[in-house]
Amino acid sequence: MAHLVCRCGYDMWNGESPNDIEFWVYSDKTMDEISMEDNIPFLSLHSKHDHNVWRCPKCGRLYVFSENGGTVPEHIYRLEE
Ligand SMILES: [Zn+2]
Repeated sequence: MAHLVCRCGYDMWNGESPNDIEFWVYSDKTMDEISMEDNIPFLSLHSKHDHNVWRCPKCGRLYVFSENGGTVPEHIYRLEE
């Protein structure tokens, strides 16, 4: 569980499960690899993500974290439209 204060000031928190803050992103290649595995447990599926993304519900900014985790986002995207 963690907090991340968005640049707009909104305090995001991933402590509720499920939540609408945190997204797990898989590349097409990773999805192919996962689909080849038999009977993959749900928790193992989480560990195979390529990126972890937090979306601010107030302004729509996306905070993209690397597959290696960490507390500093690799990229921050602001909604244009
Ligand atoms: Zn925001």
